[in-house]
Amino acid sequence: MRLSRYFLPLLKETPSDATIASHRYMLRAGMVKQDSAGIYIWLPLGFKVLKKIEQIVREEQNKAGAVEMLMPTIQSANHWKETGRYDAYGPEMLRITDRGDRELLYGPTNEDMITDMFRTYVRSYKDLPQCLYHIQWKFRDERRPRFGVMRGREFLMKDAYSFDIDAETARESYNRQFVAYLNTYARMGLKAVPMRADTGPIGGDLSHEFLILAETGESEVFCHKDLVDMAPPGVVADDDLQSIVDSRTSLYAATDEMHNADEFAKVPSDKRLSARGIEVGHIFYFGEKYSEPMKAQVQGPDGKNTNIHMGSYGVGVSRLVGGIIEASHDDNGIIWPKSVTPFGAGIINLKVGDEAADAACEDLYSKLSEAGIDPLYDDRNDRGGQKFARMDLIGLPYQLVIGPRGLKEGVVEVKTRATGEKQNMTPEAAVNFIINEYEGIA
Ligand code: ATP
Ligand code: MG
Repeated sequence: MRLSRYFLPLLKETPSDATIASHRYMLRAGMVKQDSAGIYIWLPLGFKVLKKIEQIVREEQNKAGAVEMLMPTIQSANHWKETGRYDAYGPEMLRITDRGDRELLYGPTNEDMITDMFRTYVRSYKDLPQCLYHIQWKFRDERRPRFGVMRGREFLMKDAYSFDIDAETARESYNRQFVAYLNTYARMGLKAVPMRADTGPIGGDLSHEFLILAETGESEVFCHKDLVDMAPPGVVADDDLQSIVDSRTSLYAATDEMHNADEFAKVPSDKRLSARGIEVGHIFYFGEKYSEPMKAQVQGPDGKNTNIHMGSYGVGVSRLVGGIIEASHDDNGIIWPKSVTPFGAGIINLKVGDEAADAACEDLYSKLSEAGIDPLYDDRNDRGGQKFARMDLIGLPYQLVIGPRGLKEGVVEVKTRATGEKQNMTPEAAVNFIINEYEGIA
């Protein structure tokens, strides 16, 4: 993409209502524009990152055997009345009446709808287990939308739903999602820690929130330090799922809602970590909570009908855009991890109109494009300082700086955004360097 053709409306001033880094930088870097409280327009740069995150989530869900589908944003109130949630959900639910006076709502989540769908088709234990997911916009009329996309009212979520014949196999479905979550966040360069979460009125121990540590996080968290740096498990055989889950859940980790000071005190003092965190996912086994009132049953091997055991698994896809920035930025702007960067590299032409500089940039641009690096070429006629600041702000992992002076010596400058390291190399070497850096990053 050529910057001269791109839509990148940068802000010079820091908007006063943006109190945390991710919100500030997303506005300044032209990623989002607030349309009304907690509702955002995703501008081209922000949309690209959102799509990359979504794709990582999708790939890891597919690897875990979940099957993608798409449910609508607008739901009938009927399903919610059947489960009793229509009244229970409260003012966070946006309720709509259509022209025929039918009650509709903008979905805040989809358990009720998918349970209705599932019971329509599935009647036998032979069709279980099953796990379905979609990546769809949700609406929750939050009391205090804030921190930009971190707590929006309209936000993008991946929500998966598992269906099993009994509690034991449901646990396996739960474990599979647990492991998929560890791999998902790691691919985005995040250290997400699973923490014991409130199971509400259902009870049991099968609910975990995944949090990334950040000073600006809304949750207070307490955990064993070793959990933070554990390597992601990668591909895990079915027989090993439980031991992977155990390796995380055997160490102390809880948000303030579930915190137990006496238990935490048993963690060796040099391993005790009290911090703040951002909830980027939440998984939940809730058994027959919805299948019971909705009579979602299958015929078991013994011929008897039994309620389906269900779980649900959410990832905050749009919140992750902000979460990643909170985890990876400096005073000059965003520092994108390679896996989610909107463009693979920036090309800065220091002297637009100079024949040699233009030609070298065009050449780099086409070579990097061909190699699938998706470069952003700053071909605008601005001052160098402005170009550097702009490129730092939008945070592409690599910058190629091309000017007539370097070209006389046959070199361009390659800057690594994360470290600030600058290296001079020939244009060919620069292309190879960048291709190399992206080796293995899907
Ligand atoms: P929170 O405690 O932050 O309000 P929640 O527990 O109500 O979240 P879940 O129902 O567990 O949220 O939703 C699954 C995921 O969706 C959360 O882990 C979070 O990452 C994301 N999410 C929830 N609410 C919002 C929101 N208002 N804006 C952006 N993302 C959200
Ligand atoms: Mg939650």
